Amino acid sequence: MVRTALVCGAGGFIGSHLVRHLKADGLWVRGVDLKFPEYSETLADDFAIGDLRDQSFCRNIIDRRFDEVYQLAADMGGAGYIFTGENDANVMHNSATINLNVLDACHKRNVKKIFYSSSACMYPAYNQEDPDNPKCSEESAYPAAPDSEYGWEKLFSERLYLAYRRNHGIEAHVARYHNIFGPEGTWTGGKEKAPAALCRKIAMARSGEAIEIWGDGKQTRSFLYVDECVEGTRKLLRSGFAGPVNIGSEEMVSINQLVDMIADIAGKKIEKNHIDGPQGVRGRNSDNRLIEEKLGWSPSATLRAGLEKTYEWIERQVRRNDKPAVAPTHVAKPYEKLAV
Ligand code: NAD
Repeated sequence: MVRTALVCGAGGFIGSHLVRHLKADGLWVRGVDLKFPEYSETLADDFAIGDLRDQSFCRNIIDRRFDEVYQLAADMGGAGYIFTGENDANVMHNSATINLNVLDACHKRNVKKIFYSSSACMYPAYNQEDPDNPKCSEESAYPAAPDSEYGWEKLFSERLYLAYRRNHGIEAHVARYHNIFGPEGTWTGGKEKAPAALCRKIAMARSGEAIEIWGDGKQTRSFLYVDECVEGTRKLLRSGFAGPVNIGSEEMVSINQLVDMIADIAGKKIEKNHIDGPQGVRGRNSDNRLIEEKLGWSPSATLRAGLEKTYEWIERQVRRNDKPAVAPTHVAKPYEKLAV
């Protein structure tokens, strides 16, 4: 029997990469999203366009006992979307509704293995005030004090998945992703994250010019290349470990250092113009001790190696005048039928 997987959020950045890896693993894959992937054709065998906030749609697409379900769909974006406060109600309502619906439909279909992508944004702000020494070990999550409503929703949903595990025997696995980046991620439009935004700004700047940076640039982060994120995700779902566990890189850099690294890759001299803007916490870094202990695995690629591939892809998008690299012509069968 061919193993089957469902990827919720398969039209998004991480979801579309995940589909490619699941196909390489030999699984039959159904993707679900509000939209098809923007930059390349989906490799999913079947792709349902629809809204996971709609309970009956959820029940329709979860029409069989999938061997693996990956729930990545969420209303999300970078600092310009999450930290301004303007999108809080939508972020909380939309993402929580998706999680409630997907989990309940999986329970009714007797799906066993389900992965949920939480975020490092659920860690308490009070442990991330020192840019040189942030604390993000898994047990430091409580007393809870995320610095955004996005983080609070993630915390609620983590607990929801683990409650279904306790009460309904679902094998839920929860990861806390730390800043995932790579080609085919959002790079413009307001929902992009720091690496993509900085690659775009540097690709558009001439050598010697300045780019705008939100804050003083001394805030620290770590960034994980998407292929490693997807590898950790599949390993976690196929393990006996529930989590929550960090999936992130331990190579922490300041935003200023990130700018210098990208500028070096681009072969440009770039000045920094620090302006006011949403920044999130002062420092954040993944702590990989638990994932190493439980899975015998942790990411190993360097930030620079991932940035080289990402910059090359974003520079190509910029040169193409903000148009998607490929006008998607979808090979997957559109969503049809499916009795509940
Ligand atoms: P993304 O925005 O590219 O993908 C999310 C997808 O969910 C989008 O394609 C979107 O259309 C889809 N979606 C949203 N609402 C939907 C709905 N109502 N019905 C169906 N589909 C819907 O984001 P991503 O970067 O690929 O992130 C995937 C997951 O990982 C998200 O849950 C996110 O919160 C989490 N995460 C990502 C990062 C990161 O750095 N990218 C960090 C921490 C956590």
